[in-house]
Amino acid sequence: MTVPGRASGEVIVVGGGLIGLAVAAALAERKVSVTLISERRPGEASPAAAGMLAPSVERASGSAHEFGIAARDRYPSFLDFLADRTGVKVPLNRLGILQVAITEKGIKGLKKTGLPTSRWLDAKELRELEPALSHGLGAVFSPDDGAVDNTVLIAALEKLCTNTDRITRVSDAVIAVDPARDSCTARTESGARHTARRVVVAAGAWVGKITGARLAQAVSPARGQLVSYSASPLRHVAYGPRGYVVPRGNVTIGGSTMENVGFDSSTTASGLKKVSAASEEICPSLASAQRSDAWAGLRPITPDMLPMLGPDPEHPSLIYACGHSRNGVLMAPLTGDLIADLVTESPLSRDLSQFRPDRF
Ligand SMILES: Cc1cc2nc3c(=O)[nH]c(=O)nc-3n(C[C@H](O)[C@H](O)[C@H](O)COP(=O)(O)OP(=O)(O)OC[C@H]3O[C@@H](n4cnc5c(N)ncnc54)[C@H](O)[C@@H]3O)c2cc1C
Repeated sequence: MTVPGRASGEVIVVGGGLIGLAVAAALAERKVSVTLISERRPGEASPAAAGMLAPSVERASGSAHEFGIAARDRYPSFLDFLADRTGVKVPLNRLGILQVAITEKGIKGLKKTGLPTSRWLDAKELRELEPALSHGLGAVFSPDDGAVDNTVLIAALEKLCTNTDRITRVSDAVIAVDPARDSCTARTESGARHTARRVVVAAGAWVGKITGARLAQAVSPARGQLVSYSASPLRHVAYGPRGYVVPRGNVTIGGSTMENVGFDSSTTASGLKKVSAASEEICPSLASAQRSDAWAGLRPITPDMLPMLGPDPEHPSLIYACGHSRNGVLMAPLTGDLIADLVTESPLSRDLSQFRPDRF
């Protein structure tokens, strides 16, 4: 139950998507008491995502790229930790990602973009590695990239956060944050006021609507539509010229659009047509498979597609952990670590300068 005017432990986390859950879990692990305030709403990005861990493909430059690689490589130990605490084993695919060339022009383009850690596979090597892509003319292969089942990941984090005494969960919508010198208050739709030493805003695509989180106004929603097929012809995640396909258990997910349509998280006939065509271009056998589902979610995007991580320089009791754009699943565990470093005033394990919340 929410109590008006309540002191809410050391830290309030606003938003219970993958970022808020990972931050709350990391803080609790460092013995920090947390109040996690969140409200479910249509279009949440975390359950909608394809779950790719693709820093070699969804690429940033400089230390942001290194952050992406470190985020990917944090996954195995993070999932071991979750399995140990919750008994939930989250499926992780680290077989590598293929960027498939379908045309001669595609070969040229892909050969130019490959990283030193990636390798070119000719058509024969591609066919041997992934027979369902035997029509491909070659592919860039990025070992160690892959995918996680983000729906099971959410379930594991939910279980951890619900079972941990240090985390109190509140179902409510935060309408405003009021940072003061040594504390910050979150006001909610139900009329409650929660005050803590720090407030971390991790409210996905909606974060810019919270009054007082002034820097988060740079975050906006970008809709992505996805389809799934009741077939699993692939072992590897594969990108094509217009989309990607992701194997997940008995299904294959195909994505995705990138649309600027505000907070509308519905699917459209034209969007799904595009996504299906892109998926079937990569993996032609999907054209004869049954399409089992279709959905959409809202990515929280920033102008440079990098997250905002760190305190408001004018109000350090307010911390931003938002705007993860296309890579929020990838970055969730490492974001949790870094925000816990900031809150506990521990040395930062990564350079966050490219993610300064006041850079826009
Ligand atoms: C179609 C699609 C495909 C994607 N594929 C990938 C991928 O393959 N790999 C990858 O790394 N990333 C991917 N992403 C991006 C990734 O999903 C996001 O970056 C990430 O999930 C963002 O997490 P979040 O916790 O910030 O936001 P969300 O998951 O949206 O969670 C925010 C939460 O905060 C709650 N909330 C909002 N406002 C308030 C408020 N005022 N008060 C209380 N609660 C509030 C919301 O209801 C929600 O529960 C994809 C996204 C989409 C849409």
